[in-house]
This record gives sequence, C-alpha cells and structure tokens, in this order.
Amino acid sequence: MSLHRRHILGAGAGLGATLLTGTAPLLGSLGAAQAAAPLAGTQAPSTFRFKIGAIEVTALHEGVAARPLDANFVRNAELKDVQAVLAENFLPTDTLNISFTTLLVNTGSKLVLIDTGFNDNGGPTNGRTVAQLKSLGIEPGQIDVVLLSHFHGDHLQGARAKDGKLVYPNAEIMAPENEWGFWMDDARAAAAPEAMKGAFAGVHRVLKPNANDVKRFKWGQEVVTGITAVDASGHTPGHTAFAISNGGKTLMYVADITNNPVLFARNPEWRVMFDMDPEKSVQTRKRILDMAATDKIQISFYHANFPSTGFIAKEGAGYRLVPAPWSTVL
Ligand SMILES: [Zn+2]
Repeated sequence: MSLHRRHILGAGAGLGATLLTGTAPLLGSLGAAQAAAPLAGTQAPSTFRFKIGAIEVTALHEGVAARPLDANFVRNAELKDVQAVLAENFLPTDTLNISFTTLLVNTGSKLVLIDTGFNDNGGPTNGRTVAQLKSLGIEPGQIDVVLLSHFHGDHLQGARAKDGKLVYPNAEIMAPENEWGFWMDDARAAAAPEAMKGAFAGVHRVLKPNANDVKRFKWGQEVVTGITAVDASGHTPGHTAFAISNGGKTLMYVADITNNPVLFARNPEWRVMFDMDPEKSVQTRKRILDMAATDKIQISFYHANFPSTGFIAKEGAGYRLVPAPWSTVL
C-alpha cells in the first residue's frame, strides 16, 4: 500500500474517533498520567563518540552561528547556484547556520582537545564545548593537550576566556609552526589591512600571554602519540589537518578544508570568502577529499552539520559526506 496523505489523515481521523468513542474512559486516565512537561527550548547535551582502533574520539557540539547568505560567501559562484545546492539539501537559502564541532581524543594516556571553539568570546548560540565536556564527566582541568589546527577565531578563542584566564589551565597548547610564524609576526600585524587587524589582535590576545609555553610543531611530526600533523595549508598559511591512527584505522580531522561540505565538497572549486589562499585551498581540498574517498578513511570536519564526521564518496565532479552511523556499542 502506498502511503498517501489521505491515508495518513484517514488513519488519524480513525484513531481520533476510536479514542473519542470506544476508549473514552481510558483517555481520561491517560490524560491525567501524562502531565504536560514544559518545553525544553534548548538542545540536550550533544556529543558523538566513536573509536579509531583503541583510541576514543568524541565529537563535541560547540554551537552554530547564523549568517545571512549573500553573494560574497562563495566568491566564484552565482548566489542562485549556491541557493540551489542548499535547497537540494533541505537547508535554508537565505541564512547559513555555520556549525562548529570540536573533538576530544582520548589516546589512552592523554586527553587531547582539538580546536577550542569560542568559549565566552562568541555569541549566544555557541561556546558549548566546556558544557559538552562536563556532560561527559570531564572537567577543563583534566585536558592534557589543546591542539590547534589554525588561528581563526572560531578555532582558537575558546582557549582563553574573556576575563583572560586559560580555559584549560593544565593543558599544553600546541600550534602549527607555520601558523605561528604568520600570525605572531608583529610587523605583519601592524601592516595588516584594516579588515585583518581584528584577526591578528584576537590571536595575540589568546597566545601572547603564554607565548613561551606554546609548543610549536611541523607538518609530518607526531604531535601526540597516535596523532600526526598534516599539511592542509591554503585556508590559512599554516592550516593543519591531524591524522589520528591506531590499530590500522585512521581518522583525519580536516578542520576547514571545506566550510560546510554540503556546498564545498560537492563543488570543490568553489571558493569560500574565508580561504586566505583560494587557489591553494582548492588544491588541498581536492587532495584530501580524494585521499579520503580512495582510502575509505573516516574524516571529521569542523563546519559540517553535527556530528560532522563520516566518509567521503565521489559524486559527479565533487564529493559527498556520508555521515558515520551512530552506535551504542563502541
Ligand atoms: Zn573555521
């Protein structure tokens, strides 16, 4: 039987009629037992746990930021073409809800947080990473390592609260050498165009007070046992992916090789306004997505819809994120 709208409506009407007639006394007692619960109005704790070999990875929903979609968002595509892809994916076509997902990695000997979100430096709809950790029974003081993919505010600001205190007081902060070289250069910061000055100031606010304690790493280096830094430059000069490997399995955390993959995996040539070197970003995006599709390894984005992790399938001239399945059993 095909399920037409009238069947649904018909079934509903039938059910209603039954309740109103045959089981009317029962309805009365049911109504009393099912007291109206207040609407929550907020999301429940939002984490998604999976394993890579013996390593435990937990995606943490840091939040979202809504921005009006305008013609500038994708530099080299018509707004109507961008809106068509969003519509195909049942997403709003006037607003982009950019999602943020930080990653907790338990290597068995260290608790590593990859990227930090905003903490209290963002807006009312983000800054949730610490709350997600607490929902898992983990206090910020237990984090051993904070690993930064790059120095854009949505990845970095959450390392230091607005009041100047380190959010993860016992963690070693680790950052890509090439990212450090670009953003921490005072002469470059002073000469930066007006539109970039805020970004430099934001980086300096977070990293300068403890500059001597920040450990810098190079691409190809195993930064923590089981986690290797991979060149993913283009989005920023030192933009880094992390290969998390154990027991013959690999998860690649790819940070911002795409903004939402719904748009930019599907159309890898599209240039999002945040890519600092657009041409190199396209090359990096294609290289890593192609590697993930060919080797069938799991990847985690920062800006895909939560939980932002899955596998990459080739589709047309581009790629598609196939979400990883939820599993109760790890
Ligand atoms: Zn980002």
